[in-house]
Amino acid sequence: MPADPAVVDTDCCVVGGGPAGMMVGLLLARAGVKVVILEKHGDFLRDFRGDTVHPSTLQAMADLGLLTDFLKLPHTKVSALSAQIGDETIHLADFRGLKTAAPFIALMPQWDFLDFLADAGRRYPTFDLRMNARAEGLVERGGRVAGVRVETPEGPLEIRSRLVIAADGRRSLLRDAAGLAVEDLGAPMDVLWMRLSRKPTDDPEAPLGRASAGRMFVTIPREGYYQCGYVAAKGSFDALKAAGIEAFRRQVAQAAPAMADRVDELESFDDVHLLTVTVDRLTRWSTPGLLCIGDAAHAMSPVGGVGINLAIQDAVAAANILHDAFGPDDAALDARALAVQRRRLPPTRAMQALQLVIQNRLVGAALSGRALKAPVAMRLFERFPRLRRIPARVLGLGFRLERVKSPDAFSG
Ligand SMILES: Cc1cc2nc3c(=O)[nH]c(=O)nc-3n(C[C@H](O)[C@H](O)[C@H](O)COP(=O)(O)OP(=O)(O)OC[C@H]3O[C@@H](n4cnc5c(N)ncnc54)[C@H](O)[C@@H]3O)c2cc1C
Repeated sequence: MPADPAVVDTDCCVVGGGPAGMMVGLLLARAGVKVVILEKHGDFLRDFRGDTVHPSTLQAMADLGLLTDFLKLPHTKVSALSAQIGDETIHLADFRGLKTAAPFIALMPQWDFLDFLADAGRRYPTFDLRMNARAEGLVERGGRVAGVRVETPEGPLEIRSRLVIAADGRRSLLRDAAGLAVEDLGAPMDVLWMRLSRKPTDDPEAPLGRASAGRMFVTIPREGYYQCGYVAAKGSFDALKAAGIEAFRRQVAQAAPAMADRVDELESFDDVHLLTVTVDRLTRWSTPGLLCIGDAAHAMSPVGGVGINLAIQDAVAAANILHDAFGPDDAALDARALAVQRRRLPPTRAMQALQLVIQNRLVGAALSGRALKAPVAMRLFERFPRLRRIPARVLGLGFRLERVKSPDAFSG
């Protein structure tokens, strides 16, 4: 007979040690709520998952008094964004005018960011991060979610909690287990990620998107190399593979002529990783005893690199709303969980709507192979530089900026 699982009682069980889970875990623990965070991997070192730490996230770090230490981690500072569309270079966004603690994007590997949040959390006795701990399903009692069944190298575990926060990403097991309905918003593309070397002297330091007839390519500078994204029509990866690596190298060289001298670094398709782009949203983010946040509630398009930052904004809002709700009244706690969706749904919906317009108009047009011209609205940014503050505001701070209001129960 299988052994009975060990049991751990806590106030809140957060499933997923990504940006959303680590931040909400840190904030609730800091407010004195007992939190167990479960992460199925043994570390945060995983494939490329986005490096773009936007001003909204940097503002949250400033609110926590962590910004100075955070910016001591190796990062690249990006104050403006541009795109090359056909033959034109368009300056799209200038973050320097934003009234915020750090008016720039910090490009930093996601594992450094998550390690930093984990270290910050460990300062609180209420913060219990468990690595190598995979949630396998929900525990239900009396018609509500009452915890999580977990598999660990030491054997099965049952976490009993007043609230489960599902921050387990865009393939969330918990949202499926709770039967929450997902609305698929569609995406015409997938992204193929790869690394190409970066020369220390003459290669550009800023990220660049390049769209031309039939192709889109993004380069994101990292220490010593570029993280590159080749945007391909949805479902076309198998055909690209069948055509062989040499043909793919040629496509990359055409999409990004500046990279033509190093496409040979792609030895085989083992060096090319497929991101299946998904854009979706739950219709209900919570059910009694359970709340979904981050990608588990809404997978974002890669357009604008906002996914991490929206996940962090959800976490900040959730902690602001929930931190003092762990009293004996379950109904009051569930009402607060509902309030998180009420607060975060409008800015999420607005951002996804904007992403879909860009995806369908620009990405869709580029992939169709038609000759590309910059849309008129984009040309205005070139002509009137002050207008570049508008996309900077939307991308950098989102449609609703969340400031940390949950308290530090351990200060003083
Ligand atoms: C290839 C790629 C590139 C991206 N590029 C960017 C970018 O440049 N900028 C940007 O802002 N966003 C980017 N994104 C999106 C961004 O990574 C996500 O929006 C963001 O990470 C969402 O954070 P999250 O915490 O909600 O979920 P995730 O980061 O997905 O974290 C979920 C965590 O839960 C863990 N987990 C899952 N299931 C379980 C389980 N059963 N038990 C325990 N743990 C579990 C996972 O291991 C993971 O650590 C990219 C995504 C991908 C895949």
